[in-house]
Amino acid sequence: MITFEAVTKRYAGGTVAVDHLDLEIPDGQTMVLVGPSGCGKTTSLRMINRLIEPSSGRILLDGQDVAASNPAELRRGIGYVIQQSGLFPHRTIEDNIATVPLLIGWKKARARSRSRELMTLVGLDEDLARRYPYQLSGGQQQRVGVARALAADPPVLLMDEPFSAVDPIVRATLQDELIKLQAELHKTIVLVTHDVEEAIKVGDQVAIFRPGGRIAQVDAPERLLAAPADSYVENFLGFDRGIRRLSFLAASGLSLDDRAVVDDEDTSAAEAAQVAREAGEGWVLVADGGRKPLGWASADDLEAQPAGSRAGEARLEPYGHTFSVRTDSLRAALDATVLSRAGRAVGVDEDGRVIGVTSYERLRVAIHAAERAADAAAGRGAAGSATSGGTPSGGAASPGAAADGAAPAGRAG
Ligand code: ADP
Ligand code: MG
Repeated sequence: MITFEAVTKRYAGGTVAVDHLDLEIPDGQTMVLVGPSGCGKTTSLRMINRLIEPSSGRILLDGQDVAASNPAELRRGIGYVIQQSGLFPHRTIEDNIATVPLLIGWKKARARSRSRELMTLVGLDEDLARRYPYQLSGGQQQRVGVARALAADPPVLLMDEPFSAVDPIVRATLQDELIKLQAELHKTIVLVTHDVEEAIKVGDQVAIFRPGGRIAQVDAPERLLAAPADSYVENFLGFDRGIRRLSFLAASGLSLDDRAVVDDEDTSAAEAAQVAREAGEGWVLVADGGRKPLGWASADDLEAQPAGSRAGEARLEPYGHTFSVRTDSLRAALDATVLSRAGRAVGVDEDGRVIGVTSYERLRVAIHAAERAADAAAGRGAAGSATSGGTPSGGAASPGAAADGAAPAGRAG
């Protein structure tokens, strides 16, 4: 829907802020532009709504060159949210939100009722409608900024560091709300941030910029984590990307063991010990009759119980936090396993009933299977998604090109 074609911006004074940018921003998705400060993200964003004009190249919106449009009209179809919310200090919250509707000639009553509707949508109490921006917290002001951008229901939303000025807890909440909102509204969102975690969390697609206004890689977040195009991208993504990638792989791919589970705390301790031994385990998970977990009992401890005692009377290690097999990721399953004293974690269904337990070996198998499936789905050609200076021929054609490390890391461009 938005296409950058060889767009360059050179400021007076000679700084090349954006250098031959080619980028396609798909309709109805969130595209995040991320990179260190000064790499041309804001300049790229502001060329879409013509707050800045390119030096060369063109930007198409729905196939139309934006340079041919009337800037004021163009901007009415593009919501714009900036870091410090940019609210008008002397206007009430509802009038701030109604800015564009009033500008395009809506009746006051209709614009106000739209304001109230949007306040609810972005999680603001309607009681705040008559307040002024200075009476609101930073997080509330950002919500007003988002509501104002959405007021005339534009198909496109540009957001420049929208959550950077609020504290981390509020920021996480606002990010979650944006994801929820987008699932409902399906706007074409271009969001600029310097925070790679934010990019990976909210982006359907992420474009990583390098200094000098060029793109290093454009990909879905899980592909960036799985296959960074080069060492710049890898460093930019930061530490523990292997673990972070597991967030995108479903725990439902795990085959869980339900042999070392005793789902009745009245089972005799001797019998429970035998269940563990037969499963080849030093532990058994004791659950109640409704399969709600109670805790881990060690086979040794069960065998040391006096004759006639029940499994529920043995010393039970807390089962820690469970994970939901249907909705959680492999990262949640791994985390629960790492935190468990028994080195095993409990996978549960929607009602908290035990489905089975993990082991490191089962996690390893599931991770590899999920990685293979993701690589197959990405068609293995995804390494070619880096846009700058890519050679057109695939690796298979040139001998040696496929061998890891055979080519020096410093690629042209
Ligand atoms: P980012 O948003 O990624 O931090 P910007 O797009 O704001 O980066 O800036 C890119 C580069 O262009 C920086 O080197 C910045 O100093 C320069 N720059 C931005 N705006 C102007 C301007 N109006 N005049 C001259 N140089 C500018
Ligand atoms: Mg910026």
